[in-house]
Amino acid sequence: MSSGYLNYTDGQLCLGPSKIPLARWTENYFKPVYIYDRAIVRERVRKMQKALPGVKMYYAMKANSNLEILKCLREEGCGADLVSGGEALRAMEAGFSAEQMIYSGVGKTKREIREALVANIAQINVESLPELLRIAEIAKTLGKLAKVSLRLNPDVDIQTHKYIATGLKDNKFGMELSLLPELIQVFKKFPKELELQGISLHLGSMMKELSGFQEALKKLIPVYQELKKEFVSVRCFDFGGGLGIVYENQDLEGEEKLLQQYAEIALGTLKGLGAELQCEPGRWLVAHSGVLLTEVQYLKKTSHKNFVVVDTGMHHLLRPALYSAFHKIWALKDSSAKIKADIVGPICESADFLGHDRELASVKDGDFLVIADAGAYGFSMMNTYNLQEPPLEVVV
Ligand SMILES: *Cc1c(COP(=O)(O)O)cnc(C)c1O
Repeated sequence: MSSGYLNYTDGQLCLGPSKIPLARWTENYFKPVYIYDRAIVRERVRKMQKALPGVKMYYAMKANSNLEILKCLREEGCGADLVSGGEALRAMEAGFSAEQMIYSGVGKTKREIREALVANIAQINVESLPELLRIAEIAKTLGKLAKVSLRLNPDVDIQTHKYIATGLKDNKFGMELSLLPELIQVFKKFPKELELQGISLHLGSMMKELSGFQEALKKLIPVYQELKKEFVSVRCFDFGGGLGIVYENQDLEGEEKLLQQYAEIALGTLKGLGAELQCEPGRWLVAHSGVLLTEVQYLKKTSHKNFVVVDTGMHHLLRPALYSAFHKIWALKDSSAKIKADIVGPICESADFLGHDRELASVKDGDFLVIADAGAYGFSMMNTYNLQEPPLEVVV
């Protein structure tokens, strides 16, 4: 059976174009381990760069902030899109210069803004009027010119899980278009403190139907043009991240078709603007590059169900518990005997599951399972609830 970057070779599950046998990490195994393949990250970045020529990519590092993965993305020519002071430090550690960073997020503290301005971060994506005023005040005391873009909320639906939609009027993200006159007044009041570089949007994650994306771009074009008339410094249009992948069964061809459509919409819709185009992809670049290897602890049978209890769970991979997200689960060793079971973790919560009613090659305690497509929003969302230990990470 073949599906994308994970395949059985001689009954052993292997990852990536060079077919790395994942069984390698079962020797000396002592706790769950995230395994990432750099070759997959490089392949994904190159595919996206090829589809979006001339667009500057700022990798949304909250998807996976592993230092080696960040270095790999930097080497491939990406900048970094960050959402906290902690991420700024990590990006610097990975060798990104402040010139290559965009700073997003609704809750930037005074300290975070001060440090971003001192470092001369290339662009702050502002998410509210009070944030813009706060940036202006801090820039004034520092004697700095803050380079900002306005993150606008176009109020469109991208048909994704409600926890990962960010471009609807009910969401905390971005600013309503009706706020523009007030924002313009702030820029006029602080010409030595604020430079308006452009506008940005990010509609949410796991977009697989792109009409909402196109509608949002169309809504924001006249806004960009109006701001450009008002301020000569306006030159950037940041169309965000959020392109979805297929978790059910790595459908790389389908994903490439979607990427093509995405690129046609972005480049086609924005072409007449003469703007510097920017984007902020996260998941699309790294999700397929990583897996989570876990050891089976118990097969637990009830009169209702089979449970495979493993040594990882919602503390290491939160997405199933948080969004009912689907991750494909493989037995490390293939077998013709199958079982059907819920794959669950050790945490004292019924939300602690990795998959429900999954059919997979039969396993017993001491065998291993592999959770697929865990390279995005896996380790980066990890927590230590129940005082569980963090998993390991290896990059190959
Ligand atoms: C999370 C995030 C992204 C990346 O989203 P993906 O779905 O991982 O591509 C981009 N921009 C902002 C502002 C974000 O918060």
